[in-house]
Amino acid sequence: MADNPSEERRARPYDSDRLRDLIARERAAYVEANPRSQELAVQARTTLLGGVPMSFMGMLAGAFPLFFTEARGNRVVDVDGHAYVDFCLGDTGAMTGHSPAVVTDAIDARLRAKGGITTMLPTEDAAFVGADLRRRFGLPYWQFALTATDANRWVLRMARMAQKRPYVLVFSECYHGTVDETIVVVGPDGEPMAKPGNVGPQVDPTQTTKVVEFNDVEALRAALAPLDVAAVLMEPWMTNIGIVPAEPGFLETVRELCDETGTLLINDETHTISAGIGGATRAFGLRPDIVTIGKTIAGGIPMGAYGVTEELAGRILGDPDADLVDQGGVGGTLAGNALASAAARATLEHVLTEQNLAHMTALATRYTEGVQGVLDAYRVPWVIIQLGARAEYRFTPVVPRTGNESRAAHDGALEEYMHLYTLNRGIFMTPFHNMALMCPATSAADVDRHTEVFGAAIDELYG
Ligand code: PMP
Repeated sequence: MADNPSEERRARPYDSDRLRDLIARERAAYVEANPRSQELAVQARTTLLGGVPMSFMGMLAGAFPLFFTEARGNRVVDVDGHAYVDFCLGDTGAMTGHSPAVVTDAIDARLRAKGGITTMLPTEDAAFVGADLRRRFGLPYWQFALTATDANRWVLRMARMAQKRPYVLVFSECYHGTVDETIVVVGPDGEPMAKPGNVGPQVDPTQTTKVVEFNDVEALRAALAPLDVAAVLMEPWMTNIGIVPAEPGFLETVRELCDETGTLLINDETHTISAGIGGATRAFGLRPDIVTIGKTIAGGIPMGAYGVTEELAGRILGDPDADLVDQGGVGGTLAGNALASAAARATLEHVLTEQNLAHMTALATRYTEGVQGVLDAYRVPWVIIQLGARAEYRFTPVVPRTGNESRAAHDGALEEYMHLYTLNRGIFMTPFHNMALMCPATSAADVDRHTEVFGAAIDELYG
């Protein structure tokens, strides 16, 4: 992580007129370069809601999304024939790289040689995956979902049931998927409120959830004191409002406060798996009661998972009133299916390995140093933060401490400029903020290419 900048670096605001002109130029270049994507986008608007198969695809920089034809390793090729170095990697769903051969072989074997995508019966692969997740995260018992959202939704229910307490607690500006109870923030007056934009909530989330700022120990202590919170759900470092690192000692204090108040602690490792093979839980030596994860664990085949302690497993399975197996509100027909289990086994055994994570982390360090070098050379008041295989620059000179501080660092125009500029030169960043993720196929040359393009973008704006 970069040090806080000097006053000198603060002294370099950008020229808004110049930025506006640069954005106009990059927008035009994008349209010019992508006629086939534009054509497909126009067609798609007649059949798809908002013109995209999923709404977030409309968030990509550019007047219309790029349509892709092929993706392998860390390369994506679009319908106009451009190849991109992919630092988005499906916002972590493809942290393994796209379609690693060992995973597609396992999928092929399941699909073709053996057959059976979903049967309502377990396969041997599932138990392998459970054992592997145990080794990584230290929690003994696992089950599978189709997405991280589902994993989170289900463990919140199980936590409330086991604890016989009504509330859950999250940190302001968190994202744990489309989980109703988590779409809540600390409002401008310091009081909890539904997150602006919350789509048609069935109940006001302040009725189900307490919310405090990340790194705010006293607020957390006060929120847990009434002993009515079943579980704290958190990312060990926030990653969905830009990266917000835990301050030294914060995660240990969270654990202590949970212990003192009998509150369960859930680590959502869906993104923080970038910290190492066992995510931040293992990298930082954390002791959660529950871990949830999704996205990358089956190499891009939909799969989520949740793991629990021995003690909690006993409480969950021992509750005679809970309908865990049928229509009690947890689980799904396709969850734990044979295809996802086969893909996860191959991914965990051969792709998300210690060796690959070390390679990816070294490249994220190279990326961070490259960006930092440019920022220093041009005295640009931004900071870059690294979490293992992931790195992200922010439009603020100071590392944000809370979700709300991090939101305040957002600059839509700068973001559009950086995304379009890089996209137009063959580099695909995560569409939300400025996150870059490395995969086993990423090379030093790819990272250096990013540094070069990043440097050119900064030179045009600040030079
Ligand atoms: N948890 C975290 C930390 C996430 O970042 C996300 C997605 N960005 C999710 C859960 C939800 O994942 P999915 O949309 O695949 O269910």
